[in-house]
Amino acid sequence: MGNFIEEIIDADLAAGREKEIITRFPPEPNGYLHIGHAKSICLNVGMAKKYGGKCNLRFDDTNPVKEEDEFVQSIIEDVKWLGWQGDVYFASDYFPVMYEAAVRLIKKGLAYVDDVTAEQMKEMRGTLTEAGKESKNRNRPIAESLALFEDMKNGKVADGALVLRAKIDMASPNMNMRDPIIYRVVRAHHHRQGDKWCVYPMYDFAHPIEDAVENISHSICTLEFEDHRPLYDWVLRECEFPHPPHQYEFARLNIARTIMSKRYLKKLVDEGFVSGWDDPRMPTIAGLRRRGYTPSAIRTFCERIGVAKANSEVEEGQLESCIREELNATAARAMAVLDPLPLVLDNVPDDFCETLTTEINPQAENGGTREITLTKTVYIERDDFAVVPPPKYKRLVVDGTVRLKSAYIVKCTGYEGSAEHPTCVHCELIAGTKSGEDNSGIKVKGVIHWVNKNAKKACVRLYDYLLIADDSNPDFNARLNADSLIEKEALVEDVLANSKKSESFQFLRQGYFCRDSKEGGLVFNRIVGLKDAYNAKK
Ligand code: ATP
Ligand code: MG
Repeated sequence: MGNFIEEIIDADLAAGREKEIITRFPPEPNGYLHIGHAKSICLNVGMAKKYGGKCNLRFDDTNPVKEEDEFVQSIIEDVKWLGWQGDVYFASDYFPVMYEAAVRLIKKGLAYVDDVTAEQMKEMRGTLTEAGKESKNRNRPIAESLALFEDMKNGKVADGALVLRAKIDMASPNMNMRDPIIYRVVRAHHHRQGDKWCVYPMYDFAHPIEDAVENISHSICTLEFEDHRPLYDWVLRECEFPHPPHQYEFARLNIARTIMSKRYLKKLVDEGFVSGWDDPRMPTIAGLRRRGYTPSAIRTFCERIGVAKANSEVEEGQLESCIREELNATAARAMAVLDPLPLVLDNVPDDFCETLTTEINPQAENGGTREITLTKTVYIERDDFAVVPPPKYKRLVVDGTVRLKSAYIVKCTGYEGSAEHPTCVHCELIAGTKSGEDNSGIKVKGVIHWVNKNAKKACVRLYDYLLIADDSNPDFNARLNADSLIEKEALVEDVLANSKKSESFQFLRQGYFCRDSKEGGLVFNRIVGLKDAYNAKK
């Protein structure tokens, strides 16, 4: 079933209003992209692909103050990673066209230079029930506005001293139509244009022109621009662009416990709450990639949440399910012990070393097997052994039995250390209970994972959301999760030392982990746990 944008496109093609479908993704290069942007990318790229058209990546670089080249590069990388192919455009390359369009408006008596301050502008704007006040400069002679606008362009006017306003309707019920500012003086360095320009266009004026220059057929944006659409149409009509594009709005993506604002994400980076834009806790594309998310999992997520016309919030578990389902089918299984406790098999020789077979991925067709080695001393998870077991405990207790995954059933004979803090567990290997060849009839309640004496030390990072679940306080600062990163000194199977950066595994009983792409040593990031906490709650 198609979304409402597809219905619009189908109708436009059927009626012959459009021949080629051209969409665009227009980020402002003032930060890294986040998962919300992914929704917009998937939609715009998806429409272009479906209809054999194209999707432009266009940098909306019309505000020189906040923009940086680092952000341009990261955005290109992220959009490509998500599957986009196409041409890169910069809105700043259209500054001459925009300037000409503004001059045209002045000449038509549809724009004027004003000297109102931001404060006066606010005061004179009126309210929803009251018309705004017209500026004394509203009927300034055309020649005078032309001369002043040129002075603005040539750097003869101080920042903020003059603005160019569209002359529309100070009594319009739509506040955006009350003579909005379309150009302002900003004498700042631009990342591409250098010091060439002293005037910069406002978003509402620039955006429709950018779309028109690129022959965009469907300009898809988020709902907060719905009220700006009349201005979008006004600019294109009055600047006399032939075959003007049209704007359509869809609901932006909100995810529970997820910060979806570049501005606030930048604050977390600048204040050092996270290690950078690609910190695996960040909901940025770069963060998700480093965490171990794949482009296909993100695309699946965007398909599942769909495209709607009403804002809503998606449960955090939905994004997690997409990567969990994918990795369940694709990730090799391995064993890692996050909180190691030694276990000694007392009834085997010191140099005991038996090669066993374990499945690489039981969920995959032809998942295959590999060899693992059991040694006299192995390491198990500290909480897989209990001296005083809690009710319904199914793991190892004194005199109890448990199976070591893909190996043998072992029986616990005792332990060293205190009941609260055992330091070593003693067991006996029960002969004839080898996995796959066990005819002993012994029933065990639990199967636990382990690593052998050759295990490698690794840093395992357990991540949680940057925000706590309680959202009663709307202030992000009050919701920051102090436990969003827990580092463990773990022991992992020695084969994992040969893993590649960014390679993902299921650590049995622990979750899905990705070898960190940046750190030199053995560092694994938890992508997601094994269980769907969201559905388990219900
Ligand atoms: P932010 O406030 O995070 O900077 P933005 O909307 O200002 O977001 P832009 O760089 O202007 O960021 O956005 C580029 C495109 O991505 C726009 O078309 C915008 O509508 C879309 N977009 C941004 N956030 C979301 C979101 N949460 N859901 C869907 N689309 C989004
Ligand atoms: Mg923005």
